[in-house]
Amino acid sequence: MTPLVALRGVAKRHAGGTLALDGIDLAVGQGDFLALLGPSGCGKSTLLRMLAGLDAPSAGTLAWAAVDARSDLGFVFQEPTLMPWASALRNVALPLELAGMKRREAEDRAAEWLARVGLKGFERAYPRALSGGMKMRVSIARALVTHPRLLLMDEPFAALDEITRFRLNDDLRQLWQAERFTV
Ligand code: ADP
Ligand code: MG
Repeated sequence: MTPLVALRGVAKRHAGGTLALDGIDLAVGQGDFLALLGPSGCGKSTLLRMLAGLDAPSAGTLAWAAVDARSDLGFVFQEPTLMPWASALRNVALPLELAGMKRREAEDRAAEWLARVGLKGFERAYPRALSGGMKMRVSIARALVTHPRLLLMDEPFAALDEITRFRLNDDLRQLWQAERFTV
């Protein structure tokens, strides 16, 4: 199968001159669960930002399996970045409504995804009433509610305690086994 995205000779020089990446060849297979490991400052976030189209490479190419695959993605950051004035349900429904879905249907789907990440019963809760792990679950539900082909995660569980991190790792793997998106 053609890779979902293939990087060839990718380099990135940031404004200011730092060469963050050089000579990167990488094929991300459809349905893969791929982790980039390396010390802080080695260019992991830079690579993810280029995959998300938030940044352009200075050299090399990113070849996507299909034109529409390029924008078919969800991004989970280290911070959950929820809207504090909106309930968990409203936070997760937003991407669907931005894509043109009616509020009622968007909220039904959002509720399904909150249940899938273990937050049934917390639909009306505001972010301030949720623990760090629960906020991260909302963030994951928000990234997956549109069924993206590619889920990009930038150290999403780094700020959580170890027990919560292990549990979220397990739950993420189960979601991936059930839904077979690419991570
Ligand atoms: P990682 O995520 O692996 O910790 P980053 O991709 O964030 O690494 O950073 C790689 C290198 O690029 C670092 O030296 C960092 O200082 C530099 N860098 C990252 N983003 C920028 C930016 N927007 N402008 C200038 N330099 C940057
Ligand atoms: Mg980083």
